[in-house]
Amino acid sequence: MLKITNSTELIEIALLHKPISECGSCNALMNPGWESVPGGFDLQLLKLIGTLRDEERPETWEEHHPEGTNSWSPDAPIAIGYHPYSRCDIYQCIDCSRKYLRYGEYGGYYVDERVRPLNADFIVAD
Ligand SMILES: [Zn+2]
Repeated sequence: MLKITNSTELIEIALLHKPISECGSCNALMNPGWESVPGGFDLQLLKLIGTLRDEERPETWEEHHPEGTNSWSPDAPIAIGYHPYSRCDIYQCIDCSRKYLRYGEYGGYYVDERVRPLNADFIVAD
């Protein structure tokens, strides 16, 4: 599994095998911002390829929104080292190899699995 520690590496992954075709498997995940993994979506369709987590870095809840976005904005920056990216793993669709970021938001009694397409346009320099 790849351990990604800077934006250059992350952009490389985002641009790797970037498909242009439609994909029946991950179509439900293509909303540009964060969303909960839709009920009924088969998580087996996503293959773990890397992580942004760094065990040596202290846990942070700080977010990065210099342009006034919020965590749900479709154009929110993808900023390594900030929440929620510091707890994300990187997945790719087993059919079309689109890349996705994913993490589990722990709330009360269950984990809300959240997913966002890895779009190089939103990755900010670190
Ligand atoms: Zn796909």
